[in-house]
Amino acid sequence: MSSMEAGAFGKTAVTNVRVFDGRGLRPPGTVLIEGDRIGEGPAGTGPSGAEVIDGAGGVLLPGLIDSHVHVRDQDMLRRLCGFGVTTVLDMANGSPALVDSLRTVPGLTALLSAGTPAIAPGSLHASFPVIGERGLVKDPGQAEQFVSDRAAEGSDYIKIIVGSPGADHDQATVDALVGAAHKHGKQAVAHASSCAAVAKAQQAGVDVLTHVPLDQALDQAAAAQMAAAGRILIPTLTMMETLVALLGRPGDDYTAARDSVGAAYRAGVPILAGTDANADSPAAVSYGDSLHHELELLVGAGLSPADALRAATDLPARYFGLDDRGVIEPGRRADLVLIDGDPLQDIRATRSIRRVWCGGAGHAPLTQG
Ligand SMILES: [Zn+2]
Repeated sequence: MSSMEAGAFGKTAVTNVRVFDGRGLRPPGTVLIEGDRIGEGPAGTGPSGAEVIDGAGGVLLPGLIDSHVHVRDQDMLRRLCGFGVTTVLDMANGSPALVDSLRTVPGLTALLSAGTPAIAPGSLHASFPVIGERGLVKDPGQAEQFVSDRAAEGSDYIKIIVGSPGADHDQATVDALVGAAHKHGKQAVAHASSCAAVAKAQQAGVDVLTHVPLDQALDQAAAAQMAAAGRILIPTLTMMETLVALLGRPGDDYTAARDSVGAAYRAGVPILAGTDANADSPAAVSYGDSLHHELELLVGAGLSPADALRAATDLPARYFGLDDRGVIEPGRRADLVLIDGDPLQDIRATRSIRRVWCGGAGHAPLTQG
């Protein structure tokens, strides 16, 4: 397991290292880590007594962000750290007390959360024990109370399950939930894994779509509608692949998911990397290593390697208001991943982790599996 090492919050200079700047790799230079922040200036002008790490042959990436997970305990955060994932967006969880206990543990992966999602009574998601009755919204009249309860609990955004098998919110209820979210200054995130669910969520004006259709690929019109509205997409290709392999439901086809990402990307929709890592559903997805797989699947769906890296760094930081991370520059959180090789040549290089810093705390890498 990864271990927080002694002196984890000291001063460190990573020398001779190429830095991914969102487009390409800068020529080899030095990056300073001072406490929990990225420091100012070259090594010679930096703090004396810094630990020096020779980054020759390596690349420094901003700490990776997984934009769709479900985290239950600190061991999961520790594991995420060991794979270079330093921030996660939790997309449905249990009690507010549990979420609060995971939110900002010093030196461990930081977490934002939707808390309890809005689910239709009688739907598949209503049977998930971790969500329970707290998430049930049966009609438009219950939308405002649901959203104000989440806002009071500290939910960072509002998650709405659209198109769950068994039963589904009608259009008016989704509209009311999105309207209430916006009234409370929260982004509305829709779970939508069929074309009909995507259409319903778009009609309601959601800000974020997560998952992608497995029944058929999004067409150009749907992708153009997303782009025009400034909507963002967290496709969770890892989960879509897992669902097809594990459940084999008739009509489900991974190529529909992959081609949906291609259509959205070509239309200019911002794509964020998310895995749906979870330990509770019939389709479990592992924590941390899965994000590296997601990057590979995004490249397989047509993203350039640079855009796949941005999907896990500056784009989620920008779209979820995390102004203190996502890029490597002085003053930002010292969330960093030192890897071997060139991920712009081969995205699989992100798996070759030498060292991770999470809020300045050093972590040894975990091996795959
Ligand atoms: Zn999920």
